[in-house]
Amino acid sequence: MLDNIYDVIVVGGGHAGSEAAAAAARLGARTALVTHKRATIGVMSCNPAIGGLGKGHLVREIDALDGLMGRIADAAGIQFRMLNRKKGPAVRGPRTQADRKLYRLAMQAEIEATANLDVIEGDAFDLTIEHGRVSAVVLKDGRVIRCGAVVLTTGTFLRGLIHIGDKKIPAGRVGEGPSVGLSGTLLRYGLSLGRLKTGTPARLDGSTIDWDSVGRQGADENPTPFSFMTDSIVNPQIECGVTRTTPETHKIIAENLRRSAMYSGQIEGVGPRYCPSIEDKIVKFGERDGHQIFLEPEGLDDTTVYPNGISTSLPEDVQEAFIRTIPGLERVRILQCGYAIEYDHVDPRELQLSLEVEKIPGLFLAGQINGTTGYEEAGAQGLVAGLNAARLASGGEPIEFSRTESYIGVMIDDLTSRGVAEPYRMFTSRAEYRLSLRADNADVRLTPIGLQIGCVGSARTQRFDRYSEALEETRSRLKGLTVTPSEAEKAGMHLNKDGQRRSAYELLSHPGQSIDALSRLWPELASIERGIAEAIEIEAAYAVYMDRQTADIVQARKEEERVIPAEFDFAVLSGLSNELKQKLTASRPRNIAQAARIDGMTPAAISLLLAHLRKLG
Ligand code: FAD
Repeated sequence: MLDNIYDVIVVGGGHAGSEAAAAAARLGARTALVTHKRATIGVMSCNPAIGGLGKGHLVREIDALDGLMGRIADAAGIQFRMLNRKKGPAVRGPRTQADRKLYRLAMQAEIEATANLDVIEGDAFDLTIEHGRVSAVVLKDGRVIRCGAVVLTTGTFLRGLIHIGDKKIPAGRVGEGPSVGLSGTLLRYGLSLGRLKTGTPARLDGSTIDWDSVGRQGADENPTPFSFMTDSIVNPQIECGVTRTTPETHKIIAENLRRSAMYSGQIEGVGPRYCPSIEDKIVKFGERDGHQIFLEPEGLDDTTVYPNGISTSLPEDVQEAFIRTIPGLERVRILQCGYAIEYDHVDPRELQLSLEVEKIPGLFLAGQINGTTGYEEAGAQGLVAGLNAARLASGGEPIEFSRTESYIGVMIDDLTSRGVAEPYRMFTSRAEYRLSLRADNADVRLTPIGLQIGCVGSARTQRFDRYSEALEETRSRLKGLTVTPSEAEKAGMHLNKDGQRRSAYELLSHPGQSIDALSRLWPELASIERGIAEAIEIEAAYAVYMDRQTADIVQARKEEERVIPAEFDFAVLSGLSNELKQKLTASRPRNIAQAARIDGMTPAAISLLLAHLRKLG
């Protein structure tokens, strides 16, 4: 420990802050979590769900580094679903709806039980910088807490302003005041700040919904936990309702657009394109006859329902009118109206890959303050910032995660190199190495790194060691068993009649093959434990693509300077979203490197463009 009261102070007990504080404490740093209220640690400000496409990968990676989010989501999950189950494992997205109260309480219990970690209630108002480095956090009530490093995770609170129609309420989220001092501090030290916005829908009283007139969506029969440490899911699993907006809904919204904070010019901040408000949907996709809405119960003993898909900043009377035109919601009671919120964020290009601010040594930023949106994005950054703050405080070298080994690395590289023009959220398409960066192999990819860093506890270490040994043992066993095509034929397997012997491991790369099926040839394989068998099946199936993927990436790097002809028509790129086509047409990049720097451009889109240019010669 340095000659300070704390090695690390984390400001903000949201999703980034909780991970940051726990990670720093796991590395042995004496850590303080300074947050407005102990009781709001782990609050989910918006939708009661964790994971999803791309986001689920981040949760699995946080878990592999012994972070909190996966275990907490398992403890609070009430509707587990594996999204994209029918597609390949690389793009499957584990998701669960969470019981809001259980999530918050489980997070609070975890934070309280963490060794080396104190929670201090207060409003962080300023930072002290001495000898060119952060040395203390100053609270609004005058307390000064000295430290070796600070992680700011203030979420949507920095000069937060709620909009409901023409009403403006200074707030960090509904019912909680904004954080005003720190924006001034950051500006004073020359950081570049921007303004973003996000929104949330009204909350409904589920006892006033006509559930018989809406569709239903159930949970997976066998829920897949997020955490490597969770054996089974204990909570009962619930169903969601599914309904749609109607032409009448659209008419009311369209007639009142000028009363929406977003369309009346009151909001300067840019909103998340991938999580549009209902006003945005009507304006941009007005021709559709309805937009789907999931009616998600917020808890097992809570009748509140979150109507996913209708976030809005329209005035209360308009919200009430349009919601009542939706089938099943004709007589619904609104418990809290929807709103938009604007807040300050720091341009993440101010950060190094360790998430330390270049201009202010010792200061780290994580979460929504860096221009991202979502609990998972926040948690993953919090983990990295917490680890690095602890290392810095103890005189260690920074840890950087690379794009080649994790979605965490993809996100931090995207943020720090490109910045954000709108709230950043994770997608599988952002990862060029996505065939190897799967949710199912997050432990194998990252737990060994976590062990080296020292952030993995003993329980996980033991379990992981057993798992790795079992994987290795099974892998080498399968590689040692071989057959000729004619021997395979006897077991009903049709291979190229080339006389070559193939290993059981190689056979697993054939479509539809499984260890179960191979046990017709080698009955002893039937005893391989199911979890191990599944992991090896996926690994073997992807092995062949991995080589191709690596070669593609090397080639793509070489081709960065490839020229795009001035007359090139981007509209011919079928497979590219209209949005990207428009962006390319508008900015007319001269070469691939320039195209790659366009905001929102994905590695997959670049590959498509390259493939087309190659055809042109
Ligand atoms: P938060 O979870 O906001 O936590 C910040 C914490 O810091 C709070 O505990 C606060 O009390 C504390 N704090 C702030 N300032 C100080 C200070 N000066 N001193 C002490 N403590 C302080 N995400 C999506 O993915 N999709 C959505 O549709 C979506 N919609 C949203 C709508 C709204 C209205 C809001 C508010 C958020 C929405 N989000 C959405 C975002 C999601 O809630 C955040 O991305 C996520 O919570 C960010 O985590 P965080 O840790 O950065 O900040």
